[in-house]
Amino acid sequence: MDTQPVIYWFRQDLRLADLPGLVEAASNGIPVVPVYVLDDAAPGEWAPGAASRWWLHHSLKSLAASIRQQHGSLWFHMGSAAQRLIELAAQTDARGIYCSRAFEPWAVQQERDVQRRATRAGLAFERFGGSLLFDPEQIRTQSGTFYQTFTPFWKACRQQPEPSPPQPAPPQIRWHPASGLALDDLRLTAKPPPPAAHWPSLWQPGEAGAAAALRQFLDHGLAGYQQGRELPGQAGTSRLSPHLHFGELSPRQLWHAIQTYCPDDASLAVHRDRFLAQLGWREFSHHLLYHFPALPNAPFNSAYQQFPWIEDAAALAAWREGRTGYPLVDAGMRELSQTGHMHNR
Ligand SMILES: Cc1cc2nc3c(=O)[nH]c(=O)nc-3n(C[C@H](O)[C@H](O)[C@H](O)COP(=O)(O)OP(=O)(O)OC[C@H]3O[C@@H](n4cnc5c(N)ncnc54)[C@H](O)[C@@H]3O)c2cc1C
Repeated sequence: MDTQPVIYWFRQDLRLADLPGLVEAASNGIPVVPVYVLDDAAPGEWAPGAASRWWLHHSLKSLAASIRQQHGSLWFHMGSAAQRLIELAAQTDARGIYCSRAFEPWAVQQERDVQRRATRAGLAFERFGGSLLFDPEQIRTQSGTFYQTFTPFWKACRQQPEPSPPQPAPPQIRWHPASGLALDDLRLTAKPPPPAAHWPSLWQPGEAGAAAALRQFLDHGLAGYQQGRELPGQAGTSRLSPHLHFGELSPRQLWHAIQTYCPDDASLAVHRDRFLAQLGWREFSHHLLYHFPALPNAPFNSAYQQFPWIEDAAALAAWREGRTGYPLVDAGMRELSQTGHMHNR
């Protein structure tokens, strides 16, 4: 029996089901050291804020509990992901590091750093898909460039083979012991936003919470989605966005759940297509980020490079706090700060 483990580096894929790297390890009987590294330096100015950290804490807590149920432990570390992973690999005599790909420019850079250090240390480094429905490298225009507008991009995606069905969580993962910090040592909830005291009644971070939110949407939201998503005063969208962001639910699981929910109900077709197109917007955003990594800091169209911005700290604060005097704007910003979510319009 194989005893040399791999490190599974959890990132924005905080789930056990439909996780190709875990399936690969489990199906080959390879023991797994599951680890999360809080690396605040790598994202730089894109490091998560207090609301995201609140979610991350609870999502990690849920993942750790799921692994504990299977008699394993999720190991927490802080600092440079590359450094910590290499140290942990040496400590556990691991053969390599597995992870899911991520597409934010800082995360791509982080992956390269881990790969460089792993290669130098003689470790395998394998990255798996699963965060997106379509690989950004596969979706190209006829001239081989990347898409810059949504409609032809989504048309090209829809001409690809259907995303393959999601894989269930491996029934038997051989979790391997290691060492690390306690989740509370990461201090992700040290300074929660004041409204977070109410968030447990609104949100359930984690894989089980994502599945419950999906079920709620299928049973009570999908049939009215086409109109409901346009109405800021109604809870007409799925509210799955943070679950997708932290990878508690894969886009492939969502795609197939939507497609197979009451397949014979023709009245749902328009809602299904509209919802899948929103997942298309998520794909398109990643496609742009991947092919144009300067996007977070530079305009896509260089004509806007010199766009004049008014620097007004008081006006910015008023906007953030929902005090501009424009009711629609203020209502949305207050919804965001109170609930962590904003309507679609
Ligand atoms: C001008 C404007 C820009 C916006 N930009 C974004 C954005 O970049 N990312 C974002 O998540 N939300 C964006 N939104 C908000 C978005 O439309 C929804 O309010 C939000 O995604 C609600 O989450 P949901 O899961 O309930 O959405 P649902 O309507 O249920 O959509 C399902 C999923 O599709 C994806 N999605 C939906 N809309 C967008 C979008 N516009 N861009 C990329 N992915 C999308 C998300 O992953 C979402 O979880 C924007 C809204 C406005 C008005």
